[in-house]
Amino acid sequence: MVAGGGDTFDVVVVGSGVVGAACAYELALAGRHVLVVDRGGLAAGTTASGEGNVLVSDKPPGPELDLARASVARWADYAAQLSEPFEYDPKGGVVVATDDAGRAPLADLVARQRDVGLAAELVDGAGLRTLEPHLAADLELGAHYPDDAQVQPVLASSALLADARRLGAEVRGHCDVLGFVHDRDGRVAGVRTTQGTVGAGAVVNAAGPWATAVARLAGSDLPVRPRRGHLLVTVPLAPTVHHKVYEAGYVDTLTADTTDAQVSAVVESTPSGTILLGSSRELVGFDTTVDLAVVRRIAARARRLFPVLADVDLLRVYTGLRPWVPDHLPIVGEDPAVRGLWHATGHEGAGIGLAPATGQLIRAGITDTPPPVDPLPFRVGRPGLRPAPVEAAARG
Ligand SMILES: Cc1cc2nc3c(=O)[nH]c(=O)nc-3n(C[C@H](O)[C@H](O)[C@H](O)COP(=O)(O)OP(=O)(O)OC[C@H]3O[C@@H](n4cnc5c(N)ncnc54)[C@H](O)[C@@H]3O)c2cc1C
Repeated sequence: MVAGGGDTFDVVVVGSGVVGAACAYELALAGRHVLVVDRGGLAAGTTASGEGNVLVSDKPPGPELDLARASVARWADYAAQLSEPFEYDPKGGVVVATDDAGRAPLADLVARQRDVGLAAELVDGAGLRTLEPHLAADLELGAHYPDDAQVQPVLASSALLADARRLGAEVRGHCDVLGFVHDRDGRVAGVRTTQGTVGAGAVVNAAGPWATAVARLAGSDLPVRPRRGHLLVTVPLAPTVHHKVYEAGYVDTLTADTTDAQVSAVVESTPSGTILLGSSRELVGFDTTVDLAVVRRIAARARRLFPVLADVDLLRVYTGLRPWVPDHLPIVGEDPAVRGLWHATGHEGAGIGLAPATGQLIRAGITDTPPPVDPLPFRVGRPGLRPAPVEAAARG
């Protein structure tokens, strides 16, 4: 039974991270009465750990690049439309081959991306140092991607939720989804929460690395697992790094699914002058402990790109949990096993970049309108998704 008293919405979105916020905003734009619930504070899950890169550069031609290109365009719309600023900066990206072995794969990736119309240019050593004067002097090949951008993820989520509220949405923090309500046909009809039962025509599971646990509450399953990442933040500096800069080997770490930490240098500055240094990837469950060995490896890789960072102090170091899936594609769509339950999760290390087009896909699915990209590659229950092991059901 669904609660009476009018606590009923067209759509309940579970999770106020950047993905849930984009879904809520897109649905509210389409005239749907939306409730966002989060068991914590606003965007305090993985989104609060993200660097905020909006990348096309790290994706080979395929469905994820299509989603990324649609999202890059939508982030630019948001920057123009939303009432609150969120440090949107279309600064472009620079990818650098740090050794001879990295040159041919980088050149090949650029060629394939250019074939599908992506703006990407190979640059030599002189070109690299024009773009980034502090790059190490021995780096001789890179690529420039003018379409890469950056946002502040928590501000961006907050801006999306604020405008969703202006369009009539409600947001309830510290509201934990404990279970689902189903109608006689098994279709989702609402959620049971720590703040009472809420009726809904549809529920969107945007619970990030906890999405498997939420799916299981509804009687379904997902293969989403947490993948830990470390981030180092320097003290504020005078302008030193101008683009999003990363080593070409980063692209390989995205799909290397080991428990050992995959480390590569990802470096960018923020408007406050701090520099963010990533990245690491480890499948170690919901353990968010900082591993100093990984921190040292990230720092060493960052110094390889920017020797000038050798004497710079760190302000803080932290970890976050990316929502990983076995085939490295987000899961976006209605659950064929539980009608009325929609999933928008599994974006791993690209959820900030991919949130806008994900929100548009959910909007298109729920309102039966044209999607921004082909939704089929992202569908729930596709081949390539295996059930998650027990750890994924744990509460993070
Ligand atoms: C170190 C690091 C750096 C990153 N850098 C980037 C980057 O530069 N660019 C990029 O695109 N991506 C980046 N990512 C990845 C990105 O942060 C994630 O893909 C994205 O934030 C996922 O957003 P989300 O909304 O799906 O999940 P989350 O932000 O985790 O939101 C899920 C929300 O669901 C809530 N929730 C869970 N269970 C329940 C429940 N039962 N009831 C109610 N609420 C619930 C949680 O409290 C949480 O707030 C990075 C990740 C890490 C860890």
